[in-house]
Amino acid sequence: MADKLNPFAIAQRQLDEAAKILKLDPGTHELLRWPMREFHVRIPVRMDDGTVKVFEGFRVQYNNARGPTKGGIRFHPEETFDTVRALAAWMTWKTAVMDLPLGGGKGGVVCNPKEMSEGELERLSRGYIRAIGHYIGPDIDVPAPDVYTNPQVMAWMMDEYEKIVGHSAPGVITGKPLPLGGSAGRGDATARGGVYAVREAAKVLGIELKGATAAIQGYGNAGQFAHKLAVEILGMKVVAVSDSKGGIYNPEGLPFAEVVKFKRENGTIVGFPGAEKITNEELLELDVTVLFPAALENQITEENADRIKAKIVAELANGPTTPEADVILHQRGVYVIPDFLCNAGGVTVSYFEQVQNAYNFYWSEEEVHELLDRKMTAAFHAVHEAAQKHKVHNRLGAYLVAVSRVVEAMKLRGWV
Ligand code: NAD
Repeated sequence: MADKLNPFAIAQRQLDEAAKILKLDPGTHELLRWPMREFHVRIPVRMDDGTVKVFEGFRVQYNNARGPTKGGIRFHPEETFDTVRALAAWMTWKTAVMDLPLGGGKGGVVCNPKEMSEGELERLSRGYIRAIGHYIGPDIDVPAPDVYTNPQVMAWMMDEYEKIVGHSAPGVITGKPLPLGGSAGRGDATARGGVYAVREAAKVLGIELKGATAAIQGYGNAGQFAHKLAVEILGMKVVAVSDSKGGIYNPEGLPFAEVVKFKRENGTIVGFPGAEKITNEELLELDVTVLFPAALENQITEENADRIKAKIVAELANGPTTPEADVILHQRGVYVIPDFLCNAGGVTVSYFEQVQNAYNFYWSEEEVHELLDRKMTAAFHAVHEAAQKHKVHNRLGAYLVAVSRVVEAMKLRGWV
């Protein structure tokens, strides 16, 4: 992977910028540039045809100064150690910017779940936990779902972990199904947190969102709920959405329930009646009030940053904007709500899930929404104020808040 687009190289460059402003001493800076602990495992899985296939897996525990490490597990054919390292670093900054008593971690397995049977997936999920089971736990490292892993995978993993330790331990993993100790409100938490952040951004910018337009790139968990909640909570008109096959556009607005139904029935939103077909590139450059990147890394680059017309870019995806594009967007006055703030609703409700598991007492959906709103609003304003004070773009502002908190914890422990 070209170094310029290697997510871990990008994560390190972002940290380096913050380290300069915070005048971190070289030892502290070096410790934060690398994961503190990482595992590289091979997982033998008996396939349905009787053969054994060996899968490669990773778990990175980036930094645990503020508490147990926390972060999802991705099943993806193109998973790399460096992607997992970058995501683990971003989890460290994400839990810190949200002021959660957690560190950052991430996991991944190189596999293609779309080509595996349910039984093969279950055996792989259990094998992954057997490989790392002695190094995770509610007080050590707590996984969760990420791309192509879901509540069912979390259920198998929790069950395997409980077999190893010999007692009930639902707090070992979050994003579980509700009957196994999942939290109300986890399903839409990522998009909901992002929508709360957009509401706060509009307040500080003096923008009226009611009736204003939005475009969403990516129509999975994050993108679909962003469509629903931008309409429900903010009163916005979502004029364009896309998935890996392409995009659709209707200046009058796209009806959420019908688009989701069409996607479920046809596997894509492309071909939705009454909308014009557009490309993913065109979607990013639409003249809308809010753009939600909710798909992949490296979508807004130095090549297209000049053409982004949105007033607010709300990054639900991880790493959608490159460092070069950050500078261009900032110079052009585009207000970016950076990924590890904008998409932190998911980990925040995961943290609520752990708290409920520890208490063995469960909250209503309304309580979860209210607590999430409080956390997102506080984090948004901490980042906005830091960026204003240091006259830097919001991503750097978010790094300043998060890195300071992690450094403070490391100092109090006597590590640095
Ligand atoms: P998902 O797998 O549910 O959906 C991904 C969507 O992106 C799909 O609709 C897919 O068709 C689309 N897509 C893939 N390639 C595309 C392309 N080239 N152009 C346009 N669309 C494309 O995944 P998700 O959970 O919605 O995650 C999306 C992003 O949000 C990822 O970056 C993920 O790390 C981030 N995120 C998700 C959560 C969460 O709780 N779901 C939390 C934090 C961050």
